[in-house]
Amino acid sequence: MKLDYIEHIGIAVKSIAESRGYYENVLGLECYAMEEVSDQKVRTAFFMVGQTKLELLEATSEDSPIAKFIEKKGEGIHHIAFAVASTDEALKEVADKGITLIDKSARKGAEKMNIGFLHPKSTGGVLTEFCCK
Ligand code: ZN
Repeated sequence: MKLDYIEHIGIAVKSIAESRGYYENVLGLECYAMEEVSDQKVRTAFFMVGQTKLELLEATSEDSPIAKFIEKKGEGIHHIAFAVASTDEALKEVADKGITLIDKSARKGAEKMNIGFLHPKSTGGVLTEFCCK
């Protein structure tokens, strides 16, 4: 297994409009992209910090995974995403080591990345994503 770097940290928010002020006005970051990922029922806002992004995630419907997350745990860090050379190969490698996957193979996420999630039950409670371009 080789993780290249932390590609992004996903942060669940009730409202991007209400939350972005902290990132922009307090931390001095600039939102460089917003995108809706309809199959995940989320709207995203991206901020770059070095080579790592912060990805604010807002639910676009009540049955969105983000809405469910906030209902259970409140707003806050939702997942950590590692850049890998191949999402499919990385998923297969950890599955072979006994990790439960949410995605058995890569699917398209925001920014047209190939993404795949590991189940937090297998990762000490940290929802973990692999992604590659
Ligand atoms: Zn992500």
